[in-house]
Amino acid sequence: MVTNIRGAEPQRHFRGRGLIMKSQKLPEWKPAEHNTDVNFAVGLKLPVRAMGVNFMPSWWHRKHGIEFGERYIFDPDYRVETVRYKWAAVHKLYPELNIGDPDPQPEVIPADYHNSLGPAAMGCEILYPVDNYPVSKYASRSDIEKMRVPDDIESAFPYCEMIRQVKYLNRALNKDKKPFLFKNGILNDALLLRGEELFLDLLDENELGRRVMELSLELGRRVLDYDASCGSPAVMPVCNCTAEVAGPELYERAQLEYDRLLAEYILQKGSDFMIHHCGAFDRFIKHYQKLPKPAMIQIGHHSSLRLALDAFPDALVDYCFSTPWLISASAGDVKNHTEKILDDARGDWHRLSVSIGDLDVNTPEGHVMVVYETMMRYA
Ligand SMILES: [Zn+2]
Repeated sequence: MVTNIRGAEPQRHFRGRGLIMKSQKLPEWKPAEHNTDVNFAVGLKLPVRAMGVNFMPSWWHRKHGIEFGERYIFDPDYRVETVRYKWAAVHKLYPELNIGDPDPQPEVIPADYHNSLGPAAMGCEILYPVDNYPVSKYASRSDIEKMRVPDDIESAFPYCEMIRQVKYLNRALNKDKKPFLFKNGILNDALLLRGEELFLDLLDENELGRRVMELSLELGRRVLDYDASCGSPAVMPVCNCTAEVAGPELYERAQLEYDRLLAEYILQKGSDFMIHHCGAFDRFIKHYQKLPKPAMIQIGHHSSLRLALDAFPDALVDYCFSTPWLISASAGDVKNHTEKILDDARGDWHRLSVSIGDLDVNTPEGHVMVVYETMMRYA
């Protein structure tokens, strides 16, 4: 049935946290606050709230020779220098956008396990490709039956290593960055533990399916407990990249309750929460409306902005362009689509941001400028 779980895996752009600019005082634009190791925010006054861009590690590797792999994860000094290079390179690539930084200073950049963070914490084997984020292998059925959420998150790998590196960089650079940890979505992580058989488990409503979903929720709660001990981040995402594969009926039956418990726990710990749904959003709206109110939603390319904006009238909405679509689109297609986005969102531009995510070597880089120029002209 489902053949392409990997293709439906969580994408990068939930790190749209870079777009959560609580203050929109652009004259005080500080690249360190608005750019991350993967996300770059346009530092100009726009007709919408914000615009962000990110590139796949494979793009960086092929175009700039950057080595990811173990070195990028385990050598914090190397990572800091690499990120300085990235900020300058993105600034140079789009000089009109005030993006990245022409003169980047060293900043505390945490190690990023991307989608493999949860599986690593649960003991799955991790691979470190030189041109990608770390990737995890599925656990065996017997491993899942024995699997336990670590009692002490702070001492468990890879969290202990991530926390250690942030503390080390804080000392070395005289900074005070909080070593916040992240939890991928319930189904996202459950799928990365169990593989595509999870869908059969959930359809069957069997014990193994429930166990994997419960492990995923429990890991989320322990991560949030740790984050609360550091002061809790402003916004925590609930990432549902894989809900698209499950479909709305199975989502309602097998996942919604876990998302509700996770969202409530996030609020209880003092963060706002964001729904990240990079698939088509429309069919999920009535289900997501059963969750507590999100401060922000991220929706995929084939979603109606108008429906999303009306369904969540108090939320910020981040619209994510589809990477496969951008690869095949002409400049004219991108212009028309950007105009359509602005038309759909008319009256709500103050709570709209756009993300152009996961650009790879075959994505035309000029499309970023087409989106920007269309917005400026159309506004
Ligand atoms: Zn996603």
